[in-house]
Amino acid sequence: MITQVQILEWLQLFASVIEHQKEELTELDAAIGDADHGINMNRGLKKVRALMPSLREQEISSIFKTVSMTLISHVGGVSGPLYGAWFLMASSATTGKAELTATDMLKLLQAGLQGVIDRGKTQLGDKTMVDVLGPAVKAFEQAISEGKETVAALRLAVTAAEEGLQQTVKMLAKKGRASYLGEKSIGHPDPGGTSAYWMLRSLLEVLEVSRF
Ligand code: ADP
Ligand code: MG
Repeated sequence: MITQVQILEWLQLFASVIEHQKEELTELDAAIGDADHGINMNRGLKKVRALMPSLREQEISSIFKTVSMTLISHVGGVSGPLYGAWFLMASSATTGKAELTATDMLKLLQAGLQGVIDRGKTQLGDKTMVDVLGPAVKAFEQAISEGKETVAALRLAVTAAEEGLQQTVKMLAKKGRASYLGEKSIGHPDPGGTSAYWMLRSLLEVLEVSRF
């Protein structure tokens, strides 16, 4: 079971990882975009961190909704609405849940992915965060169907996310600013895919720590 406290710890960790990685993310975006992805994400997640006292009073679904609204208003750049869509769908998928089972988590991950796909009018292979989130959802689903518990399933999902991120290196970007580069977008990892990897990895780390 994933608790409300763990969700808050996840958001805190995600925010601090992005803060530490912001230069690296910005460098990745400098290669195939406009060098602002780290700055954008850090701006939005800093705002989320500032809202922690009020988030502590909210249930899981409303936490996700607040995060969604905050990222949409403060990230700037296309990644704001896209992460906003992910968290908005996560909010709908968890309505009324005090804790999340493995199945709830699967629904959340599936809904979040679909939210990004719909909002971004994108699909697998376009060299976006979908190429990281997609394989992760698939691996999580497979693990759950084999009876694995949440943490074990998430570990496999994070591995799949990392592999997905590696795959983006050789992809040609078909969405976002990177697509303006055509063939020149090949040879670099996707910045949004990198932050999405850290989002999933942060959750795994929080859950792994809580087990001991
Ligand atoms: P901007 O491109 O406006 O500067 P960011 O640099 O913050 O925004 O984010 C860029 C990231 O957003 C990309 O690396 C990619 O993962 C993601 N992205 C861009 N366009 C789309 C899209 N249509 N669908 C899904 N993800 C996208
Ligand atoms: Mg950018």
